[in-house]
Amino acid sequence: MSLPTIDNNEEVYEDPLDLMDEIDALKKEKDATLLAHFYIDGDIQEIADFTGDSLKLARDAVKVETSTIVFSGVHFMAESTKILSPEKKVLLPDLNAGCSLADSCQYGDLLQFQEKLRAEGRDFETVAYINTTAKVKSLCDWIVTSGNAREIIDRVPKDKEILFVPDQHLGRYLQEVSGRNMILWPGSCMVHEIFSVQDLLRAKKNNPGSIVLAHPECPHRILEVSDFIGGTEKLRQYVMSIKEPGTFLVATEANMIHPLHKSAPQHTFIPVPGIMSSTGETCACNRCPHMALNTLQKVRDCLKYGKPEIEWQPYFDKAKDVLERSLLQ
Ligand code: SF4
Repeated sequence: MSLPTIDNNEEVYEDPLDLMDEIDALKKEKDATLLAHFYIDGDIQEIADFTGDSLKLARDAVKVETSTIVFSGVHFMAESTKILSPEKKVLLPDLNAGCSLADSCQYGDLLQFQEKLRAEGRDFETVAYINTTAKVKSLCDWIVTSGNAREIIDRVPKDKEILFVPDQHLGRYLQEVSGRNMILWPGSCMVHEIFSVQDLLRAKKNNPGSIVLAHPECPHRILEVSDFIGGTEKLRQYVMSIKEPGTFLVATEANMIHPLHKSAPQHTFIPVPGIMSSTGETCACNRCPHMALNTLQKVRDCLKYGKPEIEWQPYFDKAKDVLERSLLQ
């Protein structure tokens, strides 16, 4: 599991409202559009031109008309945006914003495993969750997001096995809902992995009648005590469909509370706490440290200086084919 590097130049406090005004002005001056993932700080989501999950943002990005896109999210998302919109300048506020899930499936390891399966005579297609590097995507047949996974799994011919990478929990959940057997890569997300069943059950007891919402990246032990399972956009649609005010316990990255509350303000949303594996104590580890590298200051600075930029790489061509086939067709 890789953690983002600590920035030695700690940010000096600047008024968030001033920063938001500055970003608005810079977007116009630099002909830029700001995209923000649902797991990003709420202030950035407020000033973004598009917010959403990976699938929605990938589709929004190809419709952008400005010459520059600032992707407030993590590296693989900005990479996918560049791949789908090669003519655009794509900026990521902090290049260290990685993803533990993407890190858990390295190109060389996947290539070796695929070769081993082929040598054993296994006939399979590789389906990758979008949380993978472009290099890994270039080895795959299909890319899924939590929003379109079911539909894509149905496109894999029935006579083929499925190698699903890198999220074992999402893969297990998809096995259950699709009825397809899968060879699962043993990866997981550092944020969803640590939700505590004990704290979830305690929160449920303290909030009688509450509904538990969980992302399919959560382990089985959390999914089996949840009332509704879905990717971030599906969770948002679900709470909007319930008009009567209710209480929801949310088992996904804590910033997701922002779009949920904005879309369905009649409800109360309570984040499910994580648990530290070292001490067993409840912690605030339901915040993604990679997403948290996106600050208003870094968004402002990348707009101002036009960097860090995602540069085109030779393996992007292959990744482009699979991304387009999976997300845009
Ligand atoms: S929440 Fe998990 S899957 Fe999402 S970017 Fe962070 S580490 Fe990756």
